[in-house]
Parts: sequence; C-alpha cells; structure tokens
Amino acid sequence: MSATVVLLGPPACGKGTQAERLRDRAGFALVATGDLLREARAAGTELGARAAVFMDRGVLVPDELIIGIVAEAVGALGSGPVVLDGVSRTVPQALELDALVRAHERELTAAILIDVPDDEVVRRIAGRHQGRTDDTPETARERLRVYHRETEPLVRHFEARGLLRRVDGAQDADSVEDGVRAALG
Ligand code: ADP
Repeated sequence: MSATVVLLGPPACGKGTQAERLRDRAGFALVATGDLLREARAAGTELGARAAVFMDRGVLVPDELIIGIVAEAVGALGSGPVVLDGVSRTVPQALELDALVRAHERELTAAILIDVPDDEVVRRIAGRHQGRTDDTPETARERLRVYHRETEPLVRHFEARGLLRRVDGAQDADSVEDGVRAALG
C-alpha cells in the first residue's frame, strides 16, 4: 500500500515548504488544498469564487467543498507516496480522508505536526508578503484562532491512532526537514 503522510500545524509553520521538499527531494506526490483552492480561484471556476470569500476572511472553506476537491485530487494520484498539506483541517474532513485513503488502497503512515508557538506564527506572517490576499495581520490572527478551534483537535485524533509525530517548527527549514525525515523513519 502506498504511503500517505499528513502535514499538520498552524499557519506559517512551514508545512508548505516541507511538503515541497518531500516532493522535490524524496519523490512524494503533493496535494495541497490551499494551492488547489488558489488555482481554482485564479482559473475563475465557481468553486474558486465560492472558496475565495472564506479564504479572504481567514476562515475555513466549508467541508463539503474541500471533501470534493480532495477526493478528485487523491483519485487522480497514481501509486507511490503522497504528502497531504492542509488536506484535513477539521475532524469531519479527517474522517472523510480515512475513507478515501482506504478506498484507494492507501495507508495513512504518519501525521506530522510542525509545532510553532503563536507569537512566532504572528511574527512570521507579519514579515512575509507573498501577495496572498489572506496574508494581512488581521486575517493572520483569525487563521490562528481558527487553527486552535477547528484544526488542533486533529492532534488528538491522530495521536489516538498512534500516527502523530511532532517536529519542532521553530528552527531553520533544513533542521525541520531533518526532523520530518526522522519522523518518517
Ligand atoms: P495556511 O497554512 O497559511 O493557512 P493554506 O494555503 O493551507 O495556508 O490555506 C489558505 C486558506 O485556504 C485557509 O485559510 C482556508 O481558508 C483555506 N483552506 C485550505 N485548506 C483547507 C481545508 N482543508 N479546509 C478548509 N479550508 C481550507
């Protein structure tokens, strides 16, 4: 069965960077919901327009929209390892992901939590201006609140299943990458 790795953590924890490194240096396919949503938006699709309203407020896009795009993306994967960035941000999404992974004869291998304290998250978002419409100080604080309220419960969900691996995200990207690789064994 093909390895399926979930990356978890607050906004600006470096998940995106680590997911790209797993793709570019370790042969993982990459599915990132934030990127899929931004692509849909840039392409002017109905899904993109619906998602944009939520993204710009810093709140989560409704589960049913996410579950649809994730099912499509996972269905399009071949065999081989995949890293999922931001794919489960709520417990209902994680339960859907379980079903999807089983349906495609994959196996959830690990959920890697890239841990970064709140004050560091706010500092990072204040300092990065990538032209994303949701990278303002106000939406940053809202995304952090949303993370604690809706996504952090997933830590216990994965922990209970013996899948959680914690990596200290408050280090340079190379050290975090070493931690991620070590967590994958
Ligand atoms: P970050 O990790 O910095 O929050 P992402 O690119 O992962 O950035 O996500 C940007 C926005 O896209 C989120 O604030 C949210 O509105 C939306 N989004 C991405 N993934 C999901 C998901 N799985 N469920 C709900 N909304 C999502």
